[in-house]
Amino acid sequence: MSDAEIISGHALLGEALEERTVSIIMTQGIITAIEDEKKVPDTWILPAFFNAHTHLADTVAMDLPFTGSLTEIFTPPDGLKHRILQTTPDTTLVRAMRQSVQEMQKSAVTGFADFREGGKKGVSLLKEALTHLSCHSIILGRDGGEQVSDGAGISSTRDCENYQEIVSYIKESKKILAFHAGEQDPFDVDAAVATDPDLLIHGTHLTRKQISGIADAKIPVVVCARSNAYLGVADEKHPPIQSLLDEGITLMLGTDNVMVVQPDLFSEMAYIHTRYHIDAHDLLQAAVNGSRLLSDNFFIDKGKPANLTVHDICGTNLIYSRDMCSTVVKRGGKETIRRIIINGVNKHF
Ligand SMILES: [Zn+2]
Repeated sequence: MSDAEIISGHALLGEALEERTVSIIMTQGIITAIEDEKKVPDTWILPAFFNAHTHLADTVAMDLPFTGSLTEIFTPPDGLKHRILQTTPDTTLVRAMRQSVQEMQKSAVTGFADFREGGKKGVSLLKEALTHLSCHSIILGRDGGEQVSDGAGISSTRDCENYQEIVSYIKESKKILAFHAGEQDPFDVDAAVATDPDLLIHGTHLTRKQISGIADAKIPVVVCARSNAYLGVADEKHPPIQSLLDEGITLMLGTDNVMVVQPDLFSEMAYIHTRYHIDAHDLLQAAVNGSRLLSDNFFIDKGKPANLTVHDICGTNLIYSRDMCSTVVKRGGKETIRRIIINGVNKHF
């Protein structure tokens, strides 16, 4: 008896997101075959999304009215957000982080990279929040948290006096090194790039020279456009998303602070497409690209673990779409999701 499972529909396949009508055959969670079909149901099959930059713990400060500079609100150790995190009970933090991860899952995000504040204890609280949740997580700690997590998430070279020490530790232990850089201005970028990091977050105010250096060093950039806009550090040219793509930089999408925006990549794609006129195909790739930080990325290919979402578009106006990629980016949402498959394991909605 075979334990193979078959899903048929219109799928976006491989890193090229090629639209084809297919049956995808999975055996024990692995995609063992992709066969072309002439007729399929009104079903869309998409690679799962990866949110490449979150701060899940500040869910507890959701939509708190605030005024003040970015430094006064977000800079450790005394910014408003950090004071709130320090005075929130652990049980509340754990519950809030868990609920935000579940919310991401419902909207097709099955993996995330989180900058976790609060040192070693902060990391352990996020691990507790993830108990029995099937989700791919990359936890990037600070203040000692980097020693018990997947790597370091450094606030900015200018906020962290001993960042060189942390860089040495991360390089020796072969963990992931990530920096916030260029969120408010370009002046903390060069020091971050000089460490040859695995990931730069924001890049909102990168200069042309910096973009070219980042491209040469092949460092992926995670843009957080809605958060930047809300916090008043963005305009029509910042972040310079098209320039990053033109230089061949791997673009990833993040949603940054949950206290500011919902960690929903459908909303993020639609916003960037409308505001910055970025090609839908490039944006959908960017929503999946964060999974390149894992051993297997989420693009749908034969031989890989299945990480995908299945959408029932029957009875919706999406059946009239002439370009699936474009429609997903402009109009996609969690309403049509029926199944989410994470490493071959089904979650039904
Ligand atoms: Zn951030």
